[in-house]
Amino acid sequence: MITFLSGGTGTPKLLAGFKEIHESFSVIVNTAEDVWVSGNKICPDIDSVIYTLAGIIDEEKWWGVRGDTFKTHFRLKSLGIDEGLMIGDLDRATHIFRSELLRKGLSLTEATLRLCKAFEIRQKVIPMTDDEVSTKVITSEGEMHFQEFWVIRKGEPEVVDVRIDGIGNAKPSDEAIKAIEMSEAAIIGPSNPVTSIGPIIGIRRIRELLTGKKVIAVSPFIGDRPFSGPAGKFMRALGFSPSPEGVAEFYRDIIDILVVHNGDGFESDSCRVVETDIKIRNKKDAERLSKTILELL
Ligand code: GDP
Repeated sequence: MITFLSGGTGTPKLLAGFKEIHESFSVIVNTAEDVWVSGNKICPDIDSVIYTLAGIIDEEKWWGVRGDTFKTHFRLKSLGIDEGLMIGDLDRATHIFRSELLRKGLSLTEATLRLCKAFEIRQKVIPMTDDEVSTKVITSEGEMHFQEFWVIRKGEPEVVDVRIDGIGNAKPSDEAIKAIEMSEAAIIGPSNPVTSIGPIIGIRRIRELLTGKKVIAVSPFIGDRPFSGPAGKFMRALGFSPSPEGVAEFYRDIIDILVVHNGDGFESDSCRVVETDIKIRNKKDAERLSKTILELL
């Protein structure tokens, strides 16, 4: 068994290939970007992982369901309700399914496992916690929820700090603990270290469990730039270099191996650094990178 730690874009890209060559794995997913919109709980990262493993993710955007329509979203807009996030009609059905279960008293973990079953996914997708955790971005223009910073403000404000509310008291679910305990290794996919993986390893028990395992991470940076998204801004705000070196530093004491892009190798006193092609343009790339990771493990 292998456990992945995942956000909603980089790691799902890798999982799209990994699932083709290895079946036995679970995915522990960041929940610190979850929000309630129009009465339903949206878990952006969990949804992206589920849609990826179900083979229905929109691979252009890496969120939402391929071929989805947005009729309800735009009807609501014409009625004066701006949801902020673009929510597809099929995607919304997932949110309603989840929220109905939550309203009946199921935990987020139970609701997510029901979703996995409904989507006929062989692997377990597990929220990092059932407790309320929420990422706040402190910017030069004030404090905002991660979704407001990234989706509504397009990541433009200058980032001063990142705070993960609720992380100190958050406990992993029994399923998350079991997944790590049963795994011989963990893979930290190429996700945003600060806002996607940071909350997961910010849960003390998860960090402790990982310390005893073989852990391999894939860099979301190529040279001094992330492939996409605001990871660079967040790393700088927290005092880390926005680069593979910064990633090694961020994951110090957790990872044994860091996989970086060809030419990005460096000497590290905390982990082994391995160079390969880490660009994931398509499923073939994802499979090739997955094979390399499995060989390293
Ligand atoms: P979020 O939840 O949508 O923020 O998504 P993640 O945190 O899971 O993924 C975002 C990260 O994926 C960014 O920091 C990107 O640099 C990284 N990423 C995107 N595409 C690629 C790729 O092709 N290769 C690698 N190695 N990283 C990528």
